[in-house]
Parts: sequence; C-alpha cells; structure tokens
Amino acid sequence: MSDTILATRNLQKSFGALKATDNVSIDLRAGEIHAIIGPNGAGKSTLIGQISGGLKSDAGQVHLMGRDVTALATEARAKAGLGRTFQISALAMEDTVLENVLLGAIGATGGGWRFLRGVSGDRDLNARAMEALARVGLAAAKDTRCADLSHGQRRQLEVAVALTLQPKAFVMDEPMAGLGAEGSKAMTGFLDGLRSEAPILLVEHDMDAVFALADRISVLVYGRIIASGNVDEIRASAEVREAYLGE
Ligand code: ADP
Ligand code: MG
Repeated sequence: MSDTILATRNLQKSFGALKATDNVSIDLRAGEIHAIIGPNGAGKSTLIGQISGGLKSDAGQVHLMGRDVTALATEARAKAGLGRTFQISALAMEDTVLENVLLGAIGATGGGWRFLRGVSGDRDLNARAMEALARVGLAAAKDTRCADLSHGQRRQLEVAVALTLQPKAFVMDEPMAGLGAEGSKAMTGFLDGLRSEAPILLVEHDMDAVFALADRISVLVYGRIIASGNVDEIRASAEVREAYLGE
C-alpha cells in the first residue's frame, strides 16, 4: 500500500531451537500507532531488534519508505529514517540531558556529523536538540545530570534523542515501562500527538495506554501474529483473550 511507511515481510529469528519470531509480516502506515502486544517472551523485543537492525534476521525483509533496508546496519537504518527507543535505558548517566541528546543522536547514526547537519538544516544541531527537549518537556532540565532525573524523565529523554533525528517512523519498546500513572498519562498524550508526524510501531505492556492510543493492534504469541485488528476487534476476540488477556 502506498501509505505504508514501514513493513516487515516474513521475519524470522531463532535462538537455538527456539523460534523467537516466526514469519512476522506487519506494516505501519502514515499517521497511525500500530501496537504489538503479547505475553512475556512472545518475541516483541526480538522483532523490534530485527526491525531496527540490532538483531540480524535469519530470514525475511524490512522495508522503510519502500526501500529494502534489511542489509543495513542499525546506524544506516537510523539515517534512513528509523527512530527507536529501547526497553532498557541506553542513556549515559553521568552526562547531562542535553549531552545525552547530542551524543545519542550522533551515536545512533554512527558519528554522522555531516548527516546530522543535513537533518538540522541551517540550524545547528544544538538548536534541534533543544527543540526536541522542549517537546518532551525537558528543556528546563537540559543541564541536569541524567543520573538525577526521575525514571519518567529518562523515558522522555530517550524519546527526545530519537526525535532529534527527525525519523520517518518510530519503533518503541515499552516506553511506559516503570512510569507511574501520571508519567504514563503524559507519555500517552505525547505519543498521541506524535503519530501525525511519524507513525509509531509501539510495543507496550500497559494495556490502558494501548487501548487509548492504538489505531491497530497485532497480537504476538510464541513468535507468531495470531490476530490483528482495531481496539474493539482485539478486545472482542476470544482467541486473544484466551492467549493473552487470560480471561
Ligand atoms: P518479549 O519482548 O516479547 O518479552 P523477547 O523477544 O525478549 O520477548 O524474547 C523472545 C524469546 O526469545 C524468549 O523466549 C527469550 O527468552 C528468547 N531470547 C531473546 N533474546 C535471546 C537471546 N539473545 N538469546 C537466547 N534467547 C533469547
Ligand atoms: Mg521485551
């Protein structure tokens, strides 16, 4: 489909005899949040790793904006327009908030100074980083050491790092993890607004957030997509309830 920004085709990854992902084909369309849900160990983080390039797939392809990026390393995929946030924090605790955005953006693209200058246009990278921080509500904390941030602020900072690269699509692995009710609400509001700028493939355990945000939901169980649909369809699916929601 022409408005498909990101797509996987038959992705597979095994760890020894375990098929962590098994023929996963999903797509992410312009303007949407597509949530991937599933029990622990279902293969969600493996899938995110295969899409972002941190994990090499055994088979299958990843397409970004119609381009086959399967053979590209993580940094090249980031340059091609794929933004990601991690389930486990990847921040430098001793560095400041602003330093984390700058170093994170540079690191994500493999030190692509010239590329980053291209992304930021005439403006300097610093200005773009500050703009990203303002958008996630961290501008005032720019000189704060990352170690002194709350957990919720660290999650916001990770999003700011990804935002600085102006991605065409986001893949996010549990951005609500460890956030309290208030933090989850703030992040939900932020992601809600972000989708019109770049669609989001959202792996998330917080079902309230998923049901509030998702345009579509795909359910991953033992490495396979067992159901896909809108919120109402997924909520109503007996198969999903049995396999995942435990009802
Ligand atoms: P989820 O994110 O849905 O909880 P994961 O993708 O982390 O699931 O894991 C899927 C399965 O693959 C699990 O059984 C997990 O133990 C296994 N797995 C993940 N990463 C590795 C690895 N590096 N080596 C061996 N097994 C792994
Ligand atoms: Mg995971």
